[in-house]
Amino acid sequence: MNSIAPRPSAGGCSDAPVLLERGQREVFCGLTGIVWLHRKIQDAFFLVVGSRTCAHLLQSAAGVMIFAEPRFATAILEERDLAGLLDANAELDRVAARLLERRPDIRLLFLVGSCPSEVIKLDLKRAAERLDARFRPAVRVLNYSGSGIETTFTQGEDACLAALVPEMARSDESQLLVVGALAEVVEDQFRRIFAELGIGPVRFLPPRRAAELPPVGAGTRMLLAQPFLADTARALEARGALHLPAPFPLGAEGTTLWLRAAAEAWGVEEARFDAVTAAPAARARAAVERVRASLAGRSVFFFPDSQLEIPIARFLARECGMRPIEVGTPYLHRAHLAPELELLPAGPTLSEGQHVERQLDRCRAARPDLVVCGLGLANPLEAEGVTTKWSIELVFSPIQGYDQAADLAGLFARPLARRAALEV
Ligand code: SF4
Repeated sequence: MNSIAPRPSAGGCSDAPVLLERGQREVFCGLTGIVWLHRKIQDAFFLVVGSRTCAHLLQSAAGVMIFAEPRFATAILEERDLAGLLDANAELDRVAARLLERRPDIRLLFLVGSCPSEVIKLDLKRAAERLDARFRPAVRVLNYSGSGIETTFTQGEDACLAALVPEMARSDESQLLVVGALAEVVEDQFRRIFAELGIGPVRFLPPRRAAELPPVGAGTRMLLAQPFLADTARALEARGALHLPAPFPLGAEGTTLWLRAAAEAWGVEEARFDAVTAAPAARARAAVERVRASLAGRSVFFFPDSQLEIPIARFLARECGMRPIEVGTPYLHRAHLAPELELLPAGPTLSEGQHVERQLDRCRAARPDLVVCGLGLANPLEAEGVTTKWSIELVFSPIQGYDQAADLAGLFARPLARRAALEV
């Protein structure tokens, strides 16, 4: 049998008050999502229509985090383009045509909007429709916004996937749709487990190639693999898909409960479910146990950044024995996070949105052992002697599933070990 820790009967943080904060935010914009999305959809190209700032953000984020590959670029709109939007549209068409001519491997071109005023004035939706009509069926051209005015960094993925939904064919065939970009190694592990459970067909959004875009319809039941996909889920539900509520597949417990939601929807017998999941879950728990010693009893404070904060806090509290003090999230989707809030042990302050100065005051007063935050806050906090973890690593690293549970715990143990070594 699986020894899943029982759900807390009091409902954990289900009814906990949420501190709503509105003020200055310290988060990346949605363009950042391109850094992991361009690796995921292998024949897509992301053409950011933006400024030099956007180009710098992408280059530095991509250059630091991955081996840069030419599957994204920035079409820079200079001040002079303000003189005439007609010119800007013609220029954009020229850039796109030249790109597609040079790169016949591209099957899906995203025009990604940003926040400079010159870009906001440009109707990228119409530009995408114009280019789509010209290049279809060889290439589909879609648009979404990664603007910092509208999106925090993981919302860029949500906007991108939501833009794909209208392109999905209609089919009422029964299928499991896993929604949210996962590392291929994680996707392959889940594919194997679902096959052993007899659940299928299983399809993933985003797909690895544009031609593999799954269909959607009344027979679609979907598991969200990421907690930041509000718009995508809404668009899929509007096309008939049924959301299977579940915690997110982080840690042994989260992974088991996530798989269980699909198993219940497919009527998989308990004995079969246990036969398939008990061994990998036990291996994951044993591997996490080895990291747990350096985390148990330590306090952790989350600044809002990736929207993964609540599921990660649940994992760190329940599987690693950490003590969350404040769990801040840019946006708390009540329905998608209900199973997580039920599991998160009562105690931490939950906050939504950000007023960075006030939150920094609370953080300094609490003196947590570890702070999880964006890059912009990490350096100043480290300079004050606070140990930090960059939340951006949570979206660049494979962290979902049984085999990654210990790696996930390790991401939080490393900064504590580094600080301890510095203090020796
Ligand atoms: S989209 Fe806006 S916030 Fe993002 S890099 Fe460009 S200018 Fe900056």
